[in-house]
This record gives sequence, C-alpha cells and structure tokens, in this order.
Amino acid sequence: GCGGMAEDASIEKVAAVRLLTGLDRPLHYRIPKAWSDSLETGHLVRIPLRNRHPLGVVLEVDVVPEVPRDKLRLITEVLYPRPVLTADLLQLTDWMSRYYGSRWETILETMIPAPARKGMRPKTSLTLHLARPVSDAELAALAQRAPKQAKLLSFLRDQPLPPTKSDVLKRLGIASTTCESLIKKGLLAQGCLAAERVAYADDLGASEQVGEIPPELTTEQKAAVEALSNQFDTGDFVCTLLQGVTGSGKTEVYLHLMQRALEAGGGIIFLVPEVALTPQTIGRLRARLARLPGVKAVVWHSHLSDGERLDAWLALARGEARVVVGARSAIFAPLKNLRLIIVDEEHEPAYKQEESPRYQGRDVAVYRARLVGGLCILGSATPSLETVRNALTGRYQRLQLTQRIDNRRMPTMQLVDMRGEVLSRRGPVTLSRILEDKLKARYSAREQAILFINRRGFAPHLLCRDCGHVEGCTDCSITLTYHRTDETLKCHLCGAMRPAPKRCPACGSIKIQMQGHGTQRVEAVVQRILPTAKIVRIDADTMARRHQFRQILTAFRQGRIDVLIGTQMIAKGLDFPNVTLVGLVEADLSLHQPDFRSAERTFQLLVQVAGRAGRGDRAGEVIVQTYTPHAGPIQFARRNDVDGFLQAELETREAFGYPPFRHLVQHLFRGPNPEKLAFVAEQWVRRIEGKTGPSVEIRGPAPCATEKIKGHYRFQVWYFTNQVSRLVTLLKREQEDFLVPEDVIQAIDVDPASPG
Ligand code: ADP
Ligand code: ZN
Ligand code: ZN
Repeated sequence: GCGGMAEDASIEKVAAVRLLTGLDRPLHYRIPKAWSDSLETGHLVRIPLRNRHPLGVVLEVDVVPEVPRDKLRLITEVLYPRPVLTADLLQLTDWMSRYYGSRWETILETMIPAPARKGMRPKTSLTLHLARPVSDAELAALAQRAPKQAKLLSFLRDQPLPPTKSDVLKRLGIASTTCESLIKKGLLAQGCLAAERVAYADDLGASEQVGEIPPELTTEQKAAVEALSNQFDTGDFVCTLLQGVTGSGKTEVYLHLMQRALEAGGGIIFLVPEVALTPQTIGRLRARLARLPGVKAVVWHSHLSDGERLDAWLALARGEARVVVGARSAIFAPLKNLRLIIVDEEHEPAYKQEESPRYQGRDVAVYRARLVGGLCILGSATPSLETVRNALTGRYQRLQLTQRIDNRRMPTMQLVDMRGEVLSRRGPVTLSRILEDKLKARYSAREQAILFINRRGFAPHLLCRDCGHVEGCTDCSITLTYHRTDETLKCHLCGAMRPAPKRCPACGSIKIQMQGHGTQRVEAVVQRILPTAKIVRIDADTMARRHQFRQILTAFRQGRIDVLIGTQMIAKGLDFPNVTLVGLVEADLSLHQPDFRSAERTFQLLVQVAGRAGRGDRAGEVIVQTYTPHAGPIQFARRNDVDGFLQAELETREAFGYPPFRHLVQHLFRGPNPEKLAFVAEQWVRRIEGKTGPSVEIRGPAPCATEKIKGHYRFQVWYFTNQVSRLVTLLKREQEDFLVPEDVIQAIDVDPASPG
C-alpha cells in the first residue's frame, strides 16, 4: 500500500497511553522503533490489551516506566501521521471534566469524530506516473507493437500532476493489464494520493459573492479593528465583547481580524449558532477567503459524510486547513497554532449542548483561547448577561459599534395591543388591522415584508371556549399541537399522535377551537388579504431540506417573493436590503416561559427581528403584536435601549442571586415512578445539605416545568454557587456512595441554558 516507516536503531522509548473508552488511567507501552522520534502527545494509537486492540491517545512520550521495559507490550499501530488531539485539547478535556463533571470518554466522543473513533483511514487512491523519461522515438516504436501502452504513456507525459489510475483507465478506455505490462517493463510507476473529499468552504452552494472586495471600513469599524489587532499582537489571551447594533458591520470586523491572524500564520475557529441558519455569514467568509490564495477553510456541519468529516479533521490536524467554520462542536477542531476564536451571536442558546457532555460552547471557546494564549471575540447586538457582567468586572474587554452602516436609521418599532383588537373584533385575531394595512401598502409599493411567528405548525392547540380545557399529552404534560392537514393532535416532545376531538373531552361542547398562530394560519390570512402576492412560508419543516431553504432565500433576495413567513429561527444573520416591513405576530409567547431568562430571550428576539428591517436605503418599520405591551423587555426593545435593558435585567438578577451573579447547577432526577423520584431527590438533598457549606444555596427538590418527557417524570434540585468545580467534585464523590434504584436516572447540568 501507501507509505511505510523508516527504520531507526535507537532504544525503545515508552509512551503513556489513555484508552478512549474504558480504563481511566494511563497505560505504558513501548513505542515502535520507526516512531521513536516522531510519536507525540495527541497521536491516536491502537494498543494490545488482553486479546483486543482498542484505540487510545498518547498522553506523554518518553516516560520512565515502573516495570522493566521488556515486560511492556508494543504499540500496535499509529493511526494517523499527525497528532489529532493537540496539547490544549487534552488540557481542555481536563478542565471540562472538572467543571462540567463530564466523563473523559464522553468528552473525547465529542472531540474525535465518529469515523476516527472507528479507526477509519483517510481514503487514498493509486496514481500513475512515468518511471523514467520516455522519448518521442521510443513512443513511436511502442505505438507499432502496443498502441494502448503508447497511448497511456503519451497521456501521462503531458500531465502536470500524476492522475489517479481509475480516472486514467476510464478516460482512455484501457484495462489494468496494460498498466501491469508497462510496470514490468520499468516504464510506469504507481504512487498514492490522499483522496480529496475535504469539504472546503467553496462547497457551500450558491456563490453570489465570490471574490468579494472588502469595503472601506467605517470610523467605528476601523477603531474596533485597530483595538482588536493590538490585542491580537500581544500574543496573550484576551477576550473581547464586540457589541454592535444590528447592521453595524461586525462581520467585516471579524474578517479583518481573520486576515490578520492568517498573515501571522495562525489558525482560526469561527463559531456560528447553526450552520444552516447563517448562510449569508458563511457565504461572506467564503467569498473573502477565496481572495487569499492557499488558505483552506473547512466548514464543519452536520451533513458531512464520514469520509468528508475525517478528511476535514485530518486536514486541520496537518495544518493544511487553517480555518474552521461551524457550530459549537467546531470548538474542538484540532487546529495547529490556534490564535483567533470568534463566537458570532454569542448570546444564542444554540451554543449550549443539552446532552452529555453538557457544555456551553461559548465558554469552552473562551477557555480554549486562554489555554493557547489567543484572542477570543464574542460578538452580538444583544449580548448575554453573563458576557456583559464579565465585561463590567473587567475580565473581558468591551468594544462597541453604535452606528449602522452608512448611518442608516434604526427601524421604528410600533406596538399593537392585541387585547383591544380582540375586543373590537370579537374573536381570535391573527393579524391586527394596522399590520394588515401596512402589508397592503408595502405590497403595492413593491417592497418586501417578513412576518415572524414564535412557533411552528398550524393553530398549535385546541381550546374549549366554554370551559377552557386544552388537550395535553398524557406522557409529557405539554399541550398537544393541532395539525390541520391530517386533523390530528401531536406531541412535540414524544411524538404521540391521535385524531383531533370534535367535542370537548371535558364538557362535551362543540366550541373546541384552534388557538395560537402557526405559520400556516398566518400564511392563510396573508393570502386572503394579498391574493395576488407571492407568499412563502419557511419553518423547521422546510428547514429539514437545506437546499430548499437556500433556494427560498435566494428567491427572496431577488425579489421573486413578496412576503416571507417564518419562525424566529430565521431571524439570525439574514440581510435583505429590500425588506421595509417586519411583523412579529406574538411577541409575548417567550415571555411566559418558566425560565429566569425569559425576559432576556424576549428582548433578544425583538431586537433580532427588528434588525431585519431597513437594511437597504429605505427606512424600515417593525410592527410588534402583543398582549403585554408594558412588559419591560418589550418597552426597552421598542426604544432600542440595549444598555438600559441590560442594566435593569442585571439588577433583577442580582436581587434574586440568579446568574450571572452566581452559577446555577441543575441536578435532574428522572424515571417512570414519580413517588420514588421525589423520595430519592429528598433523600439526596438531606444527605448533601450539611456538606456543601455556605458557598452553595440549594433549592428543591421540585418537579420540572416540563414534568414528564417520554414517560419519564422529572424532578430537579438547583444549586447556586460561585465555586462550580468544587461543588461538582463534591456531587460526584457523594453520588458514588449514594445508592439509587436502577430506574432513577441522574444528570448534572452546569450553567443550563433553559432550566425547567
Ligand atoms: P451585523 O453583523 O453587525 O448585523 P453585518 O456585518 O451583517 O452587520 O453588516 C451589515 C451590512 O453592511 C452587510 O450587508 C455588509 O456587507 C455591509 N457592510 C459592512 N461593513 C461595511 C462597510 N464598511 N461599508 C459598506 N458596507 C458594509
Ligand atoms: Zn370544554
Ligand atoms: Zn408526549
């Protein structure tokens, strides 16, 4: 096959190897001679263990073993030529297991892509090249006797790079035996090439902005770039909050810093909340990077095949690709010489991983930047309270962009009190008069509008107008969603489904009607008032088809769609210059969530949604429909007062001792039997109370806001503390000798995104 190892006569060194799964202490193995000088910390290896050959990672080379060397076994094989877990990633693993209480194996499962954990090899192909120069005379002579052989040789003579064997055979229509004859004659040789499966940035479809030329920076952008460049040049860890109003050109600032980092030979991680939802940001990165010859960027997303994922990962480990763009797990990319980490829309809950290992990608990004001594930029128009507080206490720097590009005005936001609308129109109202009128006006002016809805599906639930009964899922204790197309009720947590009742199950009334505004209902209403308009709905269902999503966005940008209707998922990172009207159909849905962040989430949603209007030359207008127009977050958003909101919200959080003033750790107990759960949780609290000390406040146990998911009841205990690692260590230790019934499952969630 390909490759081969050079022999080396030095004495056999010993490496400490830790298994990817299983034993949690390092084991000692002899290093094969061929690798004695080149094996490094972070190499992936196979080792003999009893009669198996599991995978492990090299923690240390050249260790002094406790037993004689000849008692040690030899490393079976080294998987990839370069180390794949850089030293900082190994340190990160240690920190994550201490801080989040996650197990080493679970963290490595996230860090090492599945194909590598399965020991998959990068695909290689055979290539063909001439074994020695061949003259014209020789070729002519050969052509007489063996025309196919001559054809092959003359073809290869003209190739600048060795082509793959399979390509050549197909193209020239010749058989493999022709090659074999030529190899025997000493005229032809075979080589080997890593196959190009890497999903580089230019594979992301529509290329509207290829080779984009950077615009002249505004004064504010220039100042930000300069300040950040100075921080970058120190070569020390710095974390900076880049707080810029929507449309202030944060992406342009990132791009300049990226160029700076690339010139300095550094690697870059660029995190976005979700790759599929930020096609424009990614398109711009791609367009700009295309102008820098030789810079390869990897887009790390969920649609990569195993082969592509492995190739991309190895390209980063080799240092061949120096930029990775992706969602939260891209923070674990094995980049060499990592110097810059950018977290765009740092406030987005999507950065929190809700399953094991439960980590906050943004916080991991900051910690990794600290480990490598790099610059971390957290960008947002509506930063999280956690980040703002870190900026206020001086742990992070803070830079602001207060102006929109070209001094475009911020859109004006108008609130519509839906309570009045309902009274005056006697019945459920989807769109207020004023929003209807404005839609009509914009449509006749040939301008575009976007309507945002907080949820998906048509008329999400059935409500009895006589007795107020709402149908819920018996397994999950959440409201069932009504689907008009097949007249069913569906549970969005467990997937249970049943026919929609014609009469109220509680009182028998026939006035059981739909409540709430699904994207489909809004679409129907808009269709009625604008019968000739082109209206397109985009939601999580459409989102499943990535290509369709991209097509819709392109059509909208080209003006082939008049009204776009979607959930707030599409509010991120999209920029349409001809949109002059944005409507938010139900502003207050997020306000009534049982979550201490509900005000923050509502505010962020409003500002984000409003930011989609008036990005072109015309001023934009934002209509917000609400049943609670006087609520703080809604008022601050209307005045576009981000700092005012942050200050007020910080005061509230401080008064309650909520994050960011203390960390919250959620301890979840779940299982099929609620009495047993409550009992176990209470026993636990009694046991732990005396041990946590004054630095920890315990609340609960209590049933979770969503009491039941997939037949499992859920109880929780909350800990508030400023010493997370200390608490997590204590919890882990106490759990070891706290015996619980088998059907009680526990989980610890540090800094949960939406507790409840
Ligand atoms: P933000 O991310 O802060 O909301 P963007 O980075 O999306 O803002 O920029 C808003 C728009 O302004 C984009 O269309 C971008 O191409 C454009 N833009 C950014 N900087 C400049 C500049 N210096 N001159 C002209 N246009 C710019
Ligand atoms: Zn009823
Ligand atoms: Zn359910």
